[in-house]
Amino acid sequence: MKKTASKSKDAKTKKPAVGKPAAKTNKPAAKKPAAKVKKSPPKAVKAVKTAKSKGQDDSFIVDGKLALPYTYFAGRVGSKFITTIRDEKKIMGVRCPKCDKVYVPPRQTCEKDMTDIRDNWVELKNSGTVTNYTVVRYKDKHLPKKPPYVMALIKLDGADTPFVHVVEGVKPDKVETGMRVQAVFAEKTTSTILDIDHFEPLKEEKLSLIHI
Ligand SMILES: [Zn+2]
Repeated sequence: MKKTASKSKDAKTKKPAVGKPAAKTNKPAAKKPAAKVKKSPPKAVKAVKTAKSKGQDDSFIVDGKLALPYTYFAGRVGSKFITTIRDEKKIMGVRCPKCDKVYVPPRQTCEKDMTDIRDNWVELKNSGTVTNYTVVRYKDKHLPKKPPYVMALIKLDGADTPFVHVVEGVKPDKVETGMRVQAVFAEKTTSTILDIDHFEPLKEEKLSLIHI
């Protein structure tokens, strides 16, 4: 009561006659919009408060899309694997001198005995055997071929580990494990594993399916 009385006195002294009603109506009117600004933060914050008040998790789902250019170092062993395919059209692996296991793609350490095998390179044949496969039936930017196409695990002759590549030249429903295939190198290099463009059925051995 005292405060309002003093304020009205101030208003009286500054603006007589007109100041009376103006001071009373303006002050509350000025407070209302200021309060509204404070109470109307971004919608997201509003939602957090609502969730917390209901005892729920204050989490959000945001739709978005990122284009993310990047560079990737294939490593010393991986680099030689790729550049030999690119420059010499040869598929190289590494053999462990201790257990004799041949890795393709190559790696620098044997998973069995942890031997350093990075410099023990061996050349493999371009032919191999499908050990498993799937049919890709959807289209996406990062996929190497137009669907439908076959992605297979192929164990090259002389290797003990399979690696993933595309099989073409055969209908997807005709592909089967044990199928013999051979590498077809790309005419234009991309300095990627796709310098082997794809694998295709090995014609002379097409009917002699090898049990794995
Ligand atoms: Zn080994």
